[in-house]
Amino acid sequence: MFDITKIRADFPILKREVNGKPLVYLDNAATSQTPQQVIDVIVDYYHRLNANIHRGVHTLSQEATDAYEQARIKIQKHFNIAKPQEVILTSGTTHSINLVANGFSSLLKEGDELLVSAMEHHSNIVPWQMLCERTGSVLKVIPMNANGELVMEDFHSLLSEKTRLVFCNHVSNALGTINPIEAIISASHEVGAAVLVDGAQASPHIKADLQALDVDFYTISAHKVCGPTGVGMLYGKEAWLKKLPPYQGGGEMIAEVTFDKTTYADLPHKFEAGTPNICGGIAFGAALDYMNSIGFETISSYEAELLAYATEELLKIEGLKIYGTAANKTSVISFNIDGIHPYDIGTILDKLGIAVRTGHHCAQPIMDFYKIPGTVRASFSFYNTKEEVDVLVAGVERAKNMLL
Ligand SMILES: *Cc1c(COP(=O)(O)O)cnc(C)c1O
Repeated sequence: MFDITKIRADFPILKREVNGKPLVYLDNAATSQTPQQVIDVIVDYYHRLNANIHRGVHTLSQEATDAYEQARIKIQKHFNIAKPQEVILTSGTTHSINLVANGFSSLLKEGDELLVSAMEHHSNIVPWQMLCERTGSVLKVIPMNANGELVMEDFHSLLSEKTRLVFCNHVSNALGTINPIEAIISASHEVGAAVLVDGAQASPHIKADLQALDVDFYTISAHKVCGPTGVGMLYGKEAWLKKLPPYQGGGEMIAEVTFDKTTYADLPHKFEAGTPNICGGIAFGAALDYMNSIGFETISSYEAELLAYATEELLKIEGLKIYGTAANKTSVISFNIDGIHPYDIGTILDKLGIAVRTGHHCAQPIMDFYKIPGTVRASFSFYNTKEEVDVLVAGVERAKNMLL
């Protein structure tokens, strides 16, 4: 059973006040809050385990290594990944995508084509533009419609035997759209293109089965699934990870080093140069345990209720327009009110203790598409409540009355 009072009690930060008001945290698409269970794991690491991993013969190092490798296996199981060596621990989605983009430098040639969706986060655009500059490949855009859905007919006509790579987010952080990645993956594979899905925004809401999806690369950041910042995952099919050259050189990623020649370590270590975020990796595993203890079906059905309620209530405000009205979306509402800059609404909401994001949400092409400077974005998590939706709606009303 879903006991919201009990769940909220797990998150110490939800008890704090902001500007004299109870915090209403609705910026979950930017980062999620951390439950006591995960905080305890972080504290315990520094109390009991802190040591460098994979190298020491001493007990602390072995225990820290075990805990870190157990976290990798938790991540593997969570995403139904075939082998633990297909799980590369990175510093987050941005790092994961750069690792892949860098690796493709030596695999692409001039005139090869890459397809990117129109609703990507900058971290799934810029590394590919840099790759195109290095290789002479061409980046083409899969357009979206006014509801914030990809135009699949256009996607199919853009695909050709020149297409080498396709990138798309599983869920848009700016609009909440759940993209039809199954169809994108299978059609891309038909022309021999590999697919990277940015799962950063899907991961708090959807438990993806990566073997069933048959995706080539999938990325997430721990801090969006109740874990700490500075750690994340790159999933890659083993065959691809073997083909890609290492990203960074250093300790941990080598088999043997001489001044004549260095050979690289096996997966996953080939892509894990240097001392990793050990505590963060362990806490990442604990965060997935926490979310699984609630259950992703429970989470998504509760969040769907919050989304429906918040959408209905916000639309009662005259002049309010929601961007991103896809039939299939997660609990993100991007909106504006006629004649008011989103930043001004965000500032007044903050005075009322309500945390939302304003601006372009690292997705400027979406804002250009709608010809707006940005939006106010309220993003809901399983620890939010209908009462908080009411506080938001009253706050937006108040901001509107003050600003118009
Ligand atoms: C948050 C997010 C990112 C970037 O994640 P980092 O943790 O900042 O690397 C990329 N894509 C999407 C869809 C996101 O929501």
